[in-house]
Amino acid sequence: MTDNERKLAELLEKAAAGYGKLNAKQQKFAVGEIDRTRLELIELLNEYAGKDGTIPRGRVNTLLRDLAGIEDNIRKYGTSALDSVIKETAAYGTAAAEAAVVKTLGDSAGLGISFNRMNADVFSYVVNRFDTDGLVLSDRIWRMAGETRDELNKVIRSAIIRGQDLKTTVAQVRGVYANDTWKIKRLVVTEGNTAYRAADAIYAQKSDVVSGLQIHRGKADRPDHKCTVLSLADSYGMGTGVYPATATEIYNPHPNCTSFLTYVLT
Ligand SMILES: [Zn+2]
Repeated sequence: MTDNERKLAELLEKAAAGYGKLNAKQQKFAVGEIDRTRLELIELLNEYAGKDGTIPRGRVNTLLRDLAGIEDNIRKYGTSALDSVIKETAAYGTAAAEAAVVKTLGDSAGLGISFNRMNADVFSYVVNRFDTDGLVLSDRIWRMAGETRDELNKVIRSAIIRGQDLKTTVAQVRGVYANDTWKIKRLVVTEGNTAYRAADAIYAQKSDVVSGLQIHRGKADRPDHKCTVLSLADSYGMGTGVYPATATEIYNPHPNCTSFLTYVLT
């Protein structure tokens, strides 16, 4: 490794750590967006409740049908939250890559072009990629929304049948959302970090000074994690853990992965 590569790697590692902090904020944002549907549901439950604070049994089917609207909104808010997370990350990632390259090698080494097209390519890659589960991002959001609705369905049906008071039901609904929070966070960690690595890689594809990407395993530091395996392999004869910028296997080694990339120079 040359001095310049070492310096550049340090800057890219710092930028990746900065993205880790941004990702924590993005998780909170996405959880908050989807939580809006909990407030909508509570409003709905209040509309259905009689004066005694319970929901009449005769209204159970209509109310459960109305849950479809809640599921729709989980999908809608979830999709729009994830879209903005990915766009924000793409812009952050390509700008950080350019800044690190310029700081290490000088202005002439930068791309010095508009990043709109590159950022759009990152977005398109992330939302269209098929994961190992055979699903694209929108499928995963739909699945999550469907699971939440199923849980809500159970809680509300049994609350009405037992003539349970609204306060208890609202607390149970809160429980369903709290239990599903990890799914939203996992989506934001997975998709956000994929967007970040894709931004680094797509930037590298355009750059004349970058010849390869080195992958560094994520925080989990598990020998069985794909990112660790990739970081120890020399699959292209380019060196240990070094890959061409087009090698998509390093863009998202596994769900919840926080591995990051640094550049090998020409
Ligand atoms: Zn990993």
